[in-house]
Amino acid sequence: MKFLDEYRDPAAARALLERIRATATRRWTVMEICGGQTHSLLRHGIDVLLAEQVELVHGPGCPVCVTPLETIDRALAIAARPEVIFTSFGDMLRVPGSSDDLLRVKSRGGDVRVVYSPLEAVRLARAHPDRQVVFLAVGFETTAPGNAMAVKQAAALGLRNFSLLVSHVLVPPAVAAIVGSPGNRVQGLLAAGHVCTVMGWREYEALAEQYRLPIVPTGFEPVDLLQGLLACVEMLERGEHGVVNRYGRAVRAEGNPAAKAVVEEVFTVCDRPWRGLGVIPRSGLRLRDAYAAFDAERRFPVDAIRPQEPAVCISGEILQGRRRPPECPAFGTDCTPATPLGATMVSSEGACAAYYRYHRTQAGRTP
Ligand code: SF4
Repeated sequence: MKFLDEYRDPAAARALLERIRATATRRWTVMEICGGQTHSLLRHGIDVLLAEQVELVHGPGCPVCVTPLETIDRALAIAARPEVIFTSFGDMLRVPGSSDDLLRVKSRGGDVRVVYSPLEAVRLARAHPDRQVVFLAVGFETTAPGNAMAVKQAAALGLRNFSLLVSHVLVPPAVAAIVGSPGNRVQGLLAAGHVCTVMGWREYEALAEQYRLPIVPTGFEPVDLLQGLLACVEMLERGEHGVVNRYGRAVRAEGNPAAKAVVEEVFTVCDRPWRGLGVIPRSGLRLRDAYAAFDAERRFPVDAIRPQEPAVCISGEILQGRRRPPECPAFGTDCTPATPLGATMVSSEGACAAYYRYHRTQAGRTP
């Protein structure tokens, strides 16, 4: 299949592995930002195959993982209201809040529905004018355009019973917070290809310059990831920094102007809390005042909710690349995909779930 098979070609992957091994004169620490890339790296054993050359650490690019607990608790409070049809993508249903999750709210009679697009939630609002339909709008630059379109459509239809519970986050400010922190170990970055298809990669140039980092937009197949790692290692070995795009079949420097325009029209940048990372200035999106009527947090009284994180969970340090999942005392014992304590275990893209699934289980082990 064009654009797929050639990026899973074992011969091409082996050749790239050999080039990375031949290029690296020392072991470099590289962060892949996206949870999908984390899973692909572990599924294909790339972390093990390049153990001598690259220490892979895992960034905050899983939208479920970084959605703050207070947003989950607010979602639970809204979903439990009798007048509400609460809609969400399926991966948010099992994310634990302080003491509950959406699936349990549903089992107690809450009208919680999985949708595959925010536009489906708009259709529900049209079909049920006597109910309030709320969509849980989380994620990065990739999901924001669709959610912005849903708000525009609801406004065009004159709907008064549709709203978003918004917790959108932006990748570059979180990357800056991580690589600019005093304990930073990250020397190079694989940027998430799908985020770059929307936002482009120009925004990363200032980051690469300020922190003297190689940043490589990269895809998700094994050959994509190895091409990204090779470019990163080559730049590190030469002492260079900057942005090199290795996802050329999907990413343009300026991204997708139409998607960026609709996001700009509906949302505005705001400070945003990240689960495990705290509040990062100008790292999120909120609805503009012109669209305040579609803001679930203004429609429902949820301000007073104060969340409580499980004390044992070290997902914040994992999301900053400082520690690995097996270093958590609860990993694989109290915390498993069947009994998750933190979002990095419950999410299918979470680093803890990836380590559990692919049996990277020894604490402190260098893969
Ligand atoms: S294993 Fe569970 S408790 Fe430990 S960091 Fe991961 S999600 Fe948190």
